[in-house]
Amino acid sequence: MAQITDDCFVFSGPLLPIAEMERLIAERVVPVAGVEQISLRGAIGRVVANDIVAPIDLPPFDNSAVDGIAVRHDQLAIDGETQLRIVDRVTAGRAATHALSDGEAIRIFTGAPMPSGADTVFMQEDCRVEGDKVIVPPGLKRGANRRLAGEDVRQGSVVLPEGRRLAVQDIALAAALGLTVLPVRRRVRGALFSTGNEVVEPGARRPPSAIFDANRLLLIGLLESLGVEVTDLGILPDDPALLAAGIRNAAQTHDLVLTSGGVSTGEADHVRAAVERIGSLVFWRVAIKPGRPVAMGVVPGRTPESGAIFVGLPGNPAAVFVTFAHVVRPLLLRLAGASPQSLIPLPVRAAFSYRKKLGRREYVRVALRKAADGVIEAVKHPQEGAGVITSLTETDGLAELPEEATVVVQGSTIGFLSYAALVN
Ligand code: AMP
Ligand code: MG
Repeated sequence: MAQITDDCFVFSGPLLPIAEMERLIAERVVPVAGVEQISLRGAIGRVVANDIVAPIDLPPFDNSAVDGIAVRHDQLAIDGETQLRIVDRVTAGRAATHALSDGEAIRIFTGAPMPSGADTVFMQEDCRVEGDKVIVPPGLKRGANRRLAGEDVRQGSVVLPEGRRLAVQDIALAAALGLTVLPVRRRVRGALFSTGNEVVEPGARRPPSAIFDANRLLLIGLLESLGVEVTDLGILPDDPALLAAGIRNAAQTHDLVLTSGGVSTGEADHVRAAVERIGSLVFWRVAIKPGRPVAMGVVPGRTPESGAIFVGLPGNPAAVFVTFAHVVRPLLLRLAGASPQSLIPLPVRAAFSYRKKLGRREYVRVALRKAADGVIEAVKHPQEGAGVITSLTETDGLAELPEEATVVVQGSTIGFLSYAALVN
C-alpha cells in the first residue's frame, strides 16, 4: 500500500492554488514499493524501478549507414576523382575479413561491419563502377556514412532511469540492447465508486429522475490508460454511513480510492464528511474551473501497510475530466513511482474571446481547426456547462487559461492540451 504521512492540513479558506495543490500531492504521496521483473512484451506504461544500464554499445560495432563503397579517406585525391580497386564485398550480418590496403575499396551494404582500415563510405549512387574498379568523386568528409560503435548508446550508461514510464520506443531500445526483462514497480491499485442517489447503471431500469452513470466508465478508461489496476466498485448512494464504509473498505486493499459526485457544498454532498470521519482531508476546493470542489484525503488502513489516498472528484463529467487530468494524473504518477511530468500546452490561436475570474485556472473545451491563413485555431465549444458530455466528444482538448489572466482576446495565443496528452 502507499505509505502516507500522518499530519493533516485542511484548506478551508479561499480556493487552493494549483501550484500549492501540486506541492501537497508531492509531499503526501509516496510511491508504491513493490518491484517486479516484467518481460518487454507487456512493459509499455510500466514505471522503471531501478536505473537500467546499457550492457553493450549501440551500435555494437562500427558499420555502414548506406549501401555503397567503403574506403580509406587518406587514399582519396583532394580535388578530382579517385579510382580504387574493389577487393571485397560485405553484406549485413557478414564479417569483414579483408583489411583495406592502399588503393583498395570494398563494396558494402547498410548495417554491414566496417572493414578494418576503412573509415568512410560513398553512397553507391555517387560511385561509378567499371569492372573491378570504382571511381569516386572528391569532397566527401572523413567518416561520412559510417556509424561508430557506441555513438547511439555507450555501454555502462543509464538508458532508462528509475521513474521512467516506458513508452514503446523505450521497449525498442531495451530490445536493441538485448534485454528481455525490466525491473518495474508494481501497478497502482485503484478502486472506483460513482456516488449519487440519481445515478443508475447503464442497462438498468432508469426511474424518471435518474441518469445513467457516465463517470465510472470515463474514469475506468482514464485510469487504465495510465496503467492502474482498477477495481470497479459500482455506485454508492448519498448516504454518509454507506459512503464512509465503502471508502474505508476499499482503502484496505487499494492505493487509491476515487469517487465522483457528492463533494460540493450541497446538503446531499456527504463524501467529504465521510472521508473526514474515516481519515483526514489533505485539501478540498481548488482554484480550478471546472472542478473546483475536488477533494484529496488520506484513509488509513487497519494495518500500517494498508491505507489509501482518496480523491473525490465532482459529479459533472467535464469537471471529472479536467480534475482527472490535473489532480488525479499527477497524483497517480507519483504513486506509480514515475518522475513528475507536467503537461506542456502548445500555442494555438484563440478563435474566441472570453472572460474569466482572476486567480483561478480555467480549462475551456476547444476544437482545433486550420484557419484560412494556415494557423491552427482553437474554437470554444458553444456549451460551457460542466455537465455537457458532448462538449467532450465534440472537442479535441483543453485551452489552459492561467490564473493571472482575466480575458482571452480573440486572435491571441493560448495554450492547448490535447485529450491524447492528458491520458499519457
Ligand atoms: P454532484 O457533484 O454530486 O453535485 O453532481 C453534479 C452533477 O453531476 C449532477 O448533475 C449529477 O447528477 C451529475 N453526476 C454525478 N455523478 C454522475 C455520474 N456518475 N455520471 C454522470 N453524471 C453524474
Ligand atoms: Mg450528487
